[in-house]
Amino acid sequence: MSEHRTERKTERKTVLVTGANKGIGYEIAAGLGALGWSVGVGARDAERRETAVAKLRAAGVDAFGVPLDVTDDASVTAAAGLIEDRAGRLDVLVNNAGVTGSAPQMPTTVDVATVRTAVETNVIGVIRVTNAMLPLLRRSPSPRIVNVSSSVGSLTLQTTPGAETGPIAVAYSPSKTFLNAVTVQYAKELQDTDILINAACPGYCATDLNGFQGHRTPEQGATVAIRLATLPDDGPTGGFFDEDGVVPW
Ligand code: NAP
Repeated sequence: MSEHRTERKTERKTVLVTGANKGIGYEIAAGLGALGWSVGVGARDAERRETAVAKLRAAGVDAFGVPLDVTDDASVTAAAGLIEDRAGRLDVLVNNAGVTGSAPQMPTTVDVATVRTAVETNVIGVIRVTNAMLPLLRRSPSPRIVNVSSSVGSLTLQTTPGAETGPIAVAYSPSKTFLNAVTVQYAKELQDTDILINAACPGYCATDLNGFQGHRTPEQGATVAIRLATLPDDGPTGGFFDEDGVVPW
């Protein structure tokens, strides 16, 4: 490794966490900020974004707000420009923003708009943000991408009798299956680069997403994403992990 490369690796890292104003995303931001990283709080609602930034700063984190709606091209392009101006590069992207779509989601009666919304945010939003950030990630010596998925997207678990996979949800669950498949395709294309990209399952956490029904805290949910954001250079890519290890696809 060159001296120049070693030197760059010791610089403060910059991460963008999408949907970081609350829930698991906020805790991912807090956890990476506690490592001394500079944290971009990607969020679409200005007030909630600035509240989260202020809270992180009060905790000693070098946080900055990034206006971001993952479903909007112009917003995502502007977010990449903001990060380029501020940091010149991006070390880690955590694609955390996600929606379940409205319930119920029984396949035979679902409003297709609900499916479209879930896919637009949870899948196409990830592709849009990732591709906008890739030029900045390529400038990092150890780029990492973490896609926050869910075990409900695991077809293996969905087809295993007795496995805990939540309610039937034809929008949300397949959107995470789709996201997992997308993660694999990125890993294949990027296999000869320094970029490591993996999917993370936070477990069932008490957040707005599920009416705070989850049995884990958002902080516990953040741990796997933080681990995948801080992987060493010989870490895995194209995998699907939770706190306990590999999740079956
Ligand atoms: P949450 O508290 O509802 O947070 C979701 C975040 O995503 C919010 O900050 C929300 O922003 C943001 N978001 C949604 N659509 C967006 C868009 N178009 N552009 C930008 N931001 C957007 O839910 P959470 O539980 O922390 O969810 C975080 C991730 O974990 C999601 O991908 C979810 O699927 C995944 N997950 C959660 C659980 C769980 O049990 N909670 C389990 C497995 C996976 P606004 O405030 O503006 O809406």
